[in-house]
Amino acid sequence: MNVGILALQGAFAEHAAMLDRIGADHFEIRRKKDLSRHFDALILPGGESTVMGKLLRELELYDPLLAMIKGGMPVFGTCAGLLLLADEIEGGERCFGVMDINVRRNAYGRQLGSFYTESDFDTAGTVPMEFIRAPYIKSTGPRARALACVDGHIVAARQENMLVTSFHPELTESTVVHEYFLDMI
Ligand code: GLN
Repeated sequence: MNVGILALQGAFAEHAAMLDRIGADHFEIRRKKDLSRHFDALILPGGESTVMGKLLRELELYDPLLAMIKGGMPVFGTCAGLLLLADEIEGGERCFGVMDINVRRNAYGRQLGSFYTESDFDTAGTVPMEFIRAPYIKSTGPRARALACVDGHIVAARQENMLVTSFHPELTESTVVHEYFLDMI
């Protein structure tokens, strides 16, 4: 199994380290020709969604990646990666717009910009969650399913081939969420 990690900006190296720990092959997607490699799944990391959206278009990665995601490529978006996949965003711009979730960007305000907590994640038990200027999911449409909540807000969801978390599992010690994603493949 080989996982392509979008590596334009943000926390891509931490996802690579996580995949190393669970023994999954991976490579960085930085330019169009990287997409000619074979891969079974895609990770969209945290960072700055507006910058990533702009770079995706400038580097002509937007259309081919959108086609792959629509074609069923398993994709895991964390934080800014969640924003790239969301269909509706308050306070930000729609990018791929493929996931039936309505999201509030920078939802925790300045004071609570970054925090750590633990909460249940679907059937996988309690996982550590690192939040950094995170969005949360205000609501899910009929095709998406909430997987985790913190303080009454949805912070993880799944829809068909797509998994999103508003927190950063790659910044914690737990490999649970990455293993959950690899199980989707
Ligand atoms: N606030 C960032 C954005 O809007 C996301 C933060 C993150 O990925 N840690 O893109």
